[in-house]
Amino acid sequence: MRVSALTDDARLLRPAPEREDLGCYRTAGGYGDGLTGDDLLAAVDAAGLRGRGGGGFPVARKWEALCMADGPRDVVANGAEGEPASLKDRYLLCRRPHLVLDGLERCALMIGAERAWVYTADAVTTASVHAALRERPVAVPVVVHQAPHTYVSGEETAAVRAIDGDEALPTAKPPRPFERGVGGRPTLVQNVETLAHVPFIAAHGAKAFRAAGTDSTPGTLLVTLSAPGVAPLLCEVDAGTPLDRVLDAAGLGWTPAGFVMGGFAGGLLGPQAREVRLSYEDLLAAGSLLGCAAVIALGAPDCPVAVAGEILAYFAAETTRQCGSCVRGTQAMRDVVAQLCAGHASADAVEKLDRWGTTLRGRGACGLLDAAAHMAASLMREFPVLVHTHLGGGCAICAAEQSSPWREPAAGRFAVAIDIDLERKDAA
Ligand code: SF4
Repeated sequence: MRVSALTDDARLLRPAPEREDLGCYRTAGGYGDGLTGDDLLAAVDAAGLRGRGGGGFPVARKWEALCMADGPRDVVANGAEGEPASLKDRYLLCRRPHLVLDGLERCALMIGAERAWVYTADAVTTASVHAALRERPVAVPVVVHQAPHTYVSGEETAAVRAIDGDEALPTAKPPRPFERGVGGRPTLVQNVETLAHVPFIAAHGAKAFRAAGTDSTPGTLLVTLSAPGVAPLLCEVDAGTPLDRVLDAAGLGWTPAGFVMGGFAGGLLGPQAREVRLSYEDLLAAGSLLGCAAVIALGAPDCPVAVAGEILAYFAAETTRQCGSCVRGTQAMRDVVAQLCAGHASADAVEKLDRWGTTLRGRGACGLLDAAAHMAASLMREFPVLVHTHLGGGCAICAAEQSSPWREPAAGRFAVAIDIDLERKDAA
């Protein structure tokens, strides 16, 4: 993995060969005075900080909801990062844990939380956070909880359930965690990257935060780019930066056949998306989602129909089988796209796939079914000619794949791993 700041104003990335320890973080101004309490809330509001976990919800609104809650409350730094193509949160917790803990502590003090949690999904990240906690004086007690790494384990109700000692499975809403969360207490579940922006706002204020980014997506973003033949790239960009700039930085010397956006949750976009600007509003206008800002560029060996099929198979395998629509819907969409790849789908089945892309949305208790439906709908919208070609069995790439004994599924091929040798050293 390569790490690169594509902005003059990098706030999150500090390309360094190892974990930033307390001394380095303090020397760089960390755990400084800065804004607190209502002043911090007002600055976060004026900064327009939006959640970086996928939803883009205004952070100040969530903090206000917790401030108004009755009784003791908790806050969770959510680093489970279920999207297979994303590694920004693991990067932050492994390389810059004090930045996250600083943001978590400021947030906890602002909303009046008595306890804080760091929610992780792998042993390397857990060890890094434990090492940082051993170095740091305690202002708010912080407990690390590690859950299994699944697509849904980072969903906020799944995080609450896991911390409470149950399986990391989403629950029906309401109640949402801000109403009833960990141990029944009102709980703020906030993505790790989101919290990592808080120390900058506390130290420099809303205006400085807004110096980068767009009106609707102020600040900088961490983007993970995966593509065949190049090392995965994690970069910090001003929100609104064209995707093209990230592709150039990754050293792509070819035109992608398309893109998978937002991890797997933003669906497919065609080759024209290389000009799209990376912001919530631009991706939404393009029919996609910024999500966790993970982008997969598809190369010549990738047929977009086959990639959609592999990702739908992944969703069908990752369903937690709690909602009938999700179990049946993900399997049905997977099967139709598999038939397309095999060259024997009927026009009727493809019509149904198109319909399911719309009708299945909002029918599950979490975002997995929405993501699967989005994948199906975006395939039909972005690649109609290619889908038609598959109806007649005319895709050479898929024909070759059908006859090959094994191809690693998309979730495996596009999963990006942080340099674990270094983390092993951290964990020791
Ligand atoms: S939508 Fe799917 S993954 Fe989400 S809770 Fe329901 S069954 Fe589980």
